Amino acid sequence: MADFDFDLFVIGAGSGGVRAARVAAGYGARTAVAEEFRIGGTCVVRGCVPKKLMVYASRFKDDFADAAGFGWSVPDASFDWPRLVAAKEKEISRLSAIYRRNLDSAGVQMFESRAELEDPHTIRLAADGRRVTAKIILVAVGGAPMLEPEVQGRELAITSNEIFDLPHFPSALLIVGGGYIAVEFASIFARLGSKVTLATRGENVLRGFDEDMRCGVRDALAHAGVKLEFNIMLKSIRQNPAGGLCVSLTQGEEMQADQVLVATGRRPATGGLGLDKAGVELDRLGAIKVDAFSKSSADSVYAVGDVTNRLALTPVAIREGHAFADTVFGARPTAVSHVNVPTSVFTTPEVGTVGLTEAAARADYDIVDIYMASFLPLKAALSGRTDKTIMKIVVDGASDRVLGVHILGESAGEMAQLLGIAVRLGAKKADFDETVAVHPTSAEELVTMR
Ligand code: NDP
Repeated sequence: MADFDFDLFVIGAGSGGVRAARVAAGYGARTAVAEEFRIGGTCVVRGCVPKKLMVYASRFKDDFADAAGFGWSVPDASFDWPRLVAAKEKEISRLSAIYRRNLDSAGVQMFESRAELEDPHTIRLAADGRRVTAKIILVAVGGAPMLEPEVQGRELAITSNEIFDLPHFPSALLIVGGGYIAVEFASIFARLGSKVTLATRGENVLRGFDEDMRCGVRDALAHAGVKLEFNIMLKSIRQNPAGGLCVSLTQGEEMQADQVLVATGRRPATGGLGLDKAGVELDRLGAIKVDAFSKSSADSVYAVGDVTNRLALTPVAIREGHAFADTVFGARPTAVSHVNVPTSVFTTPEVGTVGLTEAAARADYDIVDIYMASFLPLKAALSGRTDKTIMKIVVDGASDRVLGVHILGESAGEMAQLLGIAVRLGAKKADFDETVAVHPTSAEELVTMR
C-alpha cells in the first residue's frame, strides 16, 4: 500500500463516512477524510438531530395544554424562535466538534475541502488544487434536496437545508410533499405557531407506510391545525411586492405564504464528483451502484449511505460504513442487511415501524392475520387529549411469525427499536403473547392483543 498517500480516502464526513474512517483507522489503515461543509453530515448538521430538537420544542405546546388536567395552572406561554435556533446551533457545533475530535484521536487526517476524483486512485482537493492518492476511495457524500426544475420561481422556496436557520419565524408556511420531511415539519411548525398547509401530489401522506399509520398521521396533522391538500402540485412561486410569497398550485389554486418548504425527496449528491473518470457507474437517479459489500463498478471505489440510495437512513449509513471497513480493512467481509430496518417518523404523535406493512404482507403471504388496537393512552384520562394510540401487528398465519409491527403514539420510535430485535429474531405472535406486560404502559398492548 506504500505507493499511495493513503490506504483510504473518504469523501464526506457524515454518518457513514466518519464511521468508516474511524473503524478503518482502527485497523491500521492510513486514512483521510475530506469534507466541504461541516463535519457531521446531514444528520447532525441539518437533519435528524436538529429536527428532533425542534420536535421536542414543539411538543411543549401539547404539554402546557395537558398540564391543566393534572392540576397545573400554566401562565400563557410564548415561544421565541431565535432562541431555539441559537440553542440548536450550540448543540450542533458541540456535536460537530466531537466528531472532529474522534477523527483526530483515531489518527484520521482531515481536509476541509471539496474533493473530486480524477481517476480510480487520485483525488483533487478543490480548496488548494492539491492531488492525493489512495488505494481505496470511499464516497459518502450523501444526498441533497430535490427541487423540481419545472416550478417557476423555485429559487424562492426553501428546503430542509434552510428551515433550521430561518431568520424569521414563518407565520404562514406551505409545505410541498407528503413524505418524512414534509409531515415532520408540518407537525413541528403547526405546534410552534405557524399556519401550516401541506400540499402533496398523492392521495395521502407517507406513501409506503402501513395504511393505518398513514391515516393516523393525516388525522393527527389535521387535528393539530394543518390544512391538508391532496392530489395537488406546485406550479409557481412569486414574490409579492408588499412582502411574502404568492404560490400557484395545480387545480388553479393560489395561496399566500411567508415561506414555501419543498420536501419532495432527496437525490444522491453525485454531481461533479468526477465519478465517471474513475469508472464508477450510476443508476438513473444518479446513485452509485454498489454490491452487497458497498463496492462500486470500479474496484478501488466504494460508496455508503444516501449516495447509494439503498435506504436513506442515518443508522443504515453507519452500518454500511462499519461493514465496509470490516470488509476491506478488517479481513471480515460483512454484507449489510436492509430488511426489517426499524424506523420512526417524528410527527406528534410519532410513528414507529418495523417489517412489512399489511399490504406488503398480503402480497407475499397466503394467510395474513392482523391484530390491531386503537385506544386512548392512560395520560389522556386526565389530559383530555383525544389522539388515539394505534398498534398493529402483522402476522404470517401459516407460521405465526410476526412480519411487521406498526405503532402511532407516544414513544413509538423507542418501541420500534426493541421490536426490531424481536422481528429480526423471527419472533412468533405466541412469543409476544407469552411475554408478561409492563403495567401500566402503552407498550403492554403489544403483548396483550388477542
Ligand atoms: P420522501 O421520499 O419521504 O417523500 C417525498 C415526497 O415528495 C412524497 O410525498 C412524494 O410523493 C413527493 N414527491 C416526490 N417527487 C415529487 C414531485 N416531482 N412533485 C411533487 N411531489 C413529489 O422524501 P423526503 O424529502 O420527505 O425525505 C427524504 C428521505 O430522508 C426519506 O426518504 C428518508 O429516508 C429520510 N428521512 C428520514 C427521517 C426519519 O428517519 N425520521 C426524517 C427525514 C428524512 P409520492 O408519495 O406521491 O411519491
